[in-house]
Amino acid sequence: MKHVLVVLTALALVCGTALIAQAPAHQHIGKKIRDEITIEQPVMIGSATLKAGQYEIICDGATMSFTYVQTGEKVLTVQCHGKEMASKATTTEVYIEPGPKGVGVVTKILLKGSNIEHVFEG
Ligand SMILES: [Zn+2]
Repeated sequence: MKHVLVVLTALALVCGTALIAQAPAHQHIGKKIRDEITIEQPVMIGSATLKAGQYEIICDGATMSFTYVQTGEKVLTVQCHGKEMASKATTTEVYIEPGPKGVGVVTKILLKGSNIEHVFEG
């Protein structure tokens, strides 16, 4: 019985965290934004690693999913935060900052034609 209680507590903590993380989601809910990006070398997004390759990315305003184009496999879905910018991005840009162990960390993605910044947290 004690074991069950411990599991329930852990689930409650996970749910609470998810709700907090969704609060600052941005304003294009219902209007999915998609594009394709090419990653030249492995990078981290949050705690996940993306291998090099071409990805279809789709953001629904709360989460961004990454689908590895070569296999059609959705490999990652991450919480996406961001804000509206004054003007639309004219190019698709992936912002990568140096991370631990020499692996780059994706912090932000701008999608061509969209005025929303897609920001990820570690
Ligand atoms: Zn987004």
